[in-house]
Amino acid sequence: MTAAYVPPLPAMGVALRAVGLDQVLALPAFAHLSADDVDGVLEGFGRFAADVIAPTDEIGDREGATRDPDTGDVHLPEVIRVAFKRWVADGWSGLGASSEHGGAGLPVVVALAAEEMLASANMALSLNAMLTQGATELLARWGTEAQQRTYLAKLVSSEWTGTMNMTEPEAGSDLRGVRARAVPRDDGRWEISGTKIFITWGEHDLADNIVHFVLARTPGAPEGSAGISLFLVPRHMVDADGSVGARNRVSCAAIERKLGIHASPTCVMVFDRAVGELVGSECGGLAAMFTMMNAARRSVGLEGLGIAERAFQQALQHARERLQGRAPGVTGEVSSPIIEHPDVRRNLMLIATAVDAMRALLYTTATAADLARHHPDSDVRAAAATRGDLLTPMAKAWSTDEGVRASSIALQVHGGMGYVEESGVAQRLRDARVAPIYEGTNGIQAIDLASRKVRRDGGQGVQELLAELRGSAQAVERVGMVPQAVAILDRALDAFDAATRWLVDTTVEEDWLAAASPYLDLASLATCGGLLARQLAWVHEHGDPDAVALVAARFTFFAAERLVQVPALLETVRSGAARLPSSDAIV
Ligand SMILES: Cc1cc2nc3c(=O)[nH]c(=O)nc-3n(C[C@H](O)[C@H](O)[C@H](O)COP(=O)(O)OP(=O)(O)OC[C@H]3O[C@@H](n4cnc5c(N)ncnc54)[C@H](O)[C@@H]3O)c2cc1C
Repeated sequence: MTAAYVPPLPAMGVALRAVGLDQVLALPAFAHLSADDVDGVLEGFGRFAADVIAPTDEIGDREGATRDPDTGDVHLPEVIRVAFKRWVADGWSGLGASSEHGGAGLPVVVALAAEEMLASANMALSLNAMLTQGATELLARWGTEAQQRTYLAKLVSSEWTGTMNMTEPEAGSDLRGVRARAVPRDDGRWEISGTKIFITWGEHDLADNIVHFVLARTPGAPEGSAGISLFLVPRHMVDADGSVGARNRVSCAAIERKLGIHASPTCVMVFDRAVGELVGSECGGLAAMFTMMNAARRSVGLEGLGIAERAFQQALQHARERLQGRAPGVTGEVSSPIIEHPDVRRNLMLIATAVDAMRALLYTTATAADLARHHPDSDVRAAAATRGDLLTPMAKAWSTDEGVRASSIALQVHGGMGYVEESGVAQRLRDARVAPIYEGTNGIQAIDLASRKVRRDGGQGVQELLAELRGSAQAVERVGMVPQAVAILDRALDAFDAATRWLVDTTVEEDWLAAASPYLDLASLATCGGLLARQLAWVHEHGDPDAVALVAARFTFFAAERLVQVPALLETVRSGAARLPSSDAIV
């Protein structure tokens, strides 16, 4: 039987504290909040995710979203509709939104921890929450007072949901190709026309209204990304009293048949002179959309973590129950639980340590967002913003790659049953596979890291990060724990330093572009190694002996299996484009 989802609250509690929950709660903005309050919220959310959301996951996958060809309406399975109603009614939406807009005003890092459980419980449904949350952040930052008054509270509560409409047939990774048009009307609003593809939750029957955020070009706007504006286009117009009015000229022309996340409708959206409002300045659309995209990139990284955690729970249960072969040292006609076999234990530890590493990386990235937003000292705010910018591409790309890897390993632990839908683990792999693609492919994340986050400041941000990671390694060294693992971490950090210097000093564009993806892997592994050392030092100071033993064992395994690969990745980075044949030589 498929393992029921159990919220990993103890591990989340340790991770939150080790990345600096105290520091976040000490900010004036969160003076009303204690660590016990945070634990209480996460416990409540965990119960909701496990009891209400997780049971919808398999049915949502099997039945999926369907589109009525006559009306273009999109329907979700009944269980999803019921669970979503509870989501809104129980007030779980908007945990991270400010209380001024009807949210719970929790730190980003706490809201992210809750979101992890939602992604584990039902990734397809979690995308709805993620996009709506992104839309609230966008509107809170760029919306006019009137737009905020009309839309914000409804989005915060998820009574209405949000979408992000960027992609077009000729505009995928490269948004310079956006062709949708916006023409001004006499009343100050705009008419938007064009087709958007792959729009997540573009149409559905869970909410009374859908608020689309759409990239389009205004008349006379320059070509390229400098000519793109952002528009708010509601599915239904909103009447003066705030109620839902007439239908706007936006429709869903099709939904995609796809590998996974079947309960998340992926829509072709047609805007046919749909009425919308400009958000932010004309031609300033990409800057505004980036508010939504940065939060979304963290959340997509989180999908890798959420899926891996769930896959781990399933694999662990199966490995304890399945009897095959004789474990080392066992004699006679007995069969051992497969968890006794070293190779299966290794597989489980690969997943478990990836989960720890992703959690540390993602929570650290979210903590930086809290400090960047709320710290009273502007220098600290600026440094935290730089740190968040540096970590975001790693948090997105590395975590989503690890999510795929972890769910594939979990499937392997199940043997043939893993390939059979009944086990439930096949869905993990199918769902996880999209995350390295959307929200900027992982290849694009790697280029973003190499170019904007590392080369642009001459590696300064990495040097500051490295100093902290080395400090964590030394903290573990000082208490005399796991010296071999610390030595491996030291070598990994040296390789991170060397790779960064190479990246900054390399002048040939093709070389550093060819190095970008291995550099992202190297940087992420080394960073996670340092963050796991930090967690070990924290547990040593605050935790009980069992917790110390567990975290030390995980760190040791991560060092011996993953951090040892970092110096090898340095060689790949340094090979630049020399290792790549030209495009016509790939036959
Ligand atoms: C299920 C799903 C949901 C989605 N939801 C949304 C949504 O809600 N809103 C929305 O706007 N979009 C959405 N998307 C679209 C998604 O963001 C794009 O698919 C993604 O950005 C990649 O664009 P593309 O598909 O055109 O691939 P392409 O841009 O054609 O890329 C193909 C390959 O080439 C690589 N590549 C492209 N350019 C470069 C380069 N300069 N350097 C190196 N490598 C490069 C890419 O990494 C990739 O591996 C969704 C997609 C899917 C599958």
